[in-house]
Amino acid sequence: MALPEAFVERFRLLYPDEADALLATFEAPRPVSFRVNPLKTNVATALAALKKEGFTPEPVAWYPYAFRVPYAQRDALTRSPLFERGDIYIQSLSSMLAPLALDPQPGETVLDLAAAPGGKSLMMAAQMRNEGWLSVVEPGRDRFFRLKANLERGGVTIAHHYMADGRSVGAKCPAMFDRVMLDAPCSTEAKFKAWDEKSTAYWSERKIKEMAKLQFRLLLSAFKSLKPGGTLLYATCSFAPEENEAVVDKALDRLENLEVLPLTLPVANIRPGLSTWGKKRFCNEVKKCVRILPTETMDGFFLCKLRKKS
Ligand code: SAM
Repeated sequence: MALPEAFVERFRLLYPDEADALLATFEAPRPVSFRVNPLKTNVATALAALKKEGFTPEPVAWYPYAFRVPYAQRDALTRSPLFERGDIYIQSLSSMLAPLALDPQPGETVLDLAAAPGGKSLMMAAQMRNEGWLSVVEPGRDRFFRLKANLERGGVTIAHHYMADGRSVGAKCPAMFDRVMLDAPCSTEAKFKAWDEKSTAYWSERKIKEMAKLQFRLLLSAFKSLKPGGTLLYATCSFAPEENEAVVDKALDRLENLEVLPLTLPVANIRPGLSTWGKKRFCNEVKKCVRILPTETMDGFFLCKLRKKS
């Protein structure tokens, strides 16, 4: 099984000098990363328990709560009592970068606008030390209940759950939040696995266009829900510039009070936002976005930190 041809073609245009090496990272399963949940336990206790169960967790240098185990240990990890109790949460390393970049603080009012299954909400509640207000929004019924269960199991006490379309939230709650996480629904290109055809089954260039429209509406809603001076993290697990730089570029064009903030991340596999894609030229600000390149241990990702000017 191979990756879709049109995807590979687009990927080669994105990364002409390094496409082969980057595409090779889609061929084998990445190690499984997880986060120790400080709302339920501490790192020493969790590690001791996991080692006793036969796991071999390896620390991740840039985040003290992050560890990884070989892919072969994945199923066993999901059956571990620590996983069942919410003491640990399986989460990709690139996904952990988004809450780190948004940096929510205890006591703040925070919105997760596309929240299920809850990995980033859980991490943000931990960053906030369960102090403040965390609104979590998810329109899909099954995913909403999965999100709720995950947050409950993870010991989150500050979450307020809403089964709603994120596009309506800005109008309902204008200027309410200090920080907004928009981990937008996307074409999920960075989650493709060359050995698993299910992972690419719904991909098409039409899907990218569809997603880009939805993402733009969600970004407008996220912006509206921000207090003046508040910050917003826009993220996708897609490589498609239409879902990334183009969405940010269009929002900057539409909203004069919006600016891109520089982003410092603790990893080396990064590139700045693109300045062009096909015939499209993006404004200079867009270069402050960050593209996470896929590696043997990390999925690709796109991050952009934005601020509503006061
Ligand atoms: N942030 C989540 C996490 O870390 O666990 C992952 C979010 S996933 C990338 C995107 C989510 O957006 C999906 O759960 C999807 O159902 C949801 N979604 C789709 N359409 C939406 C909409 N109109 N408003 C809000 N969320 C939406």
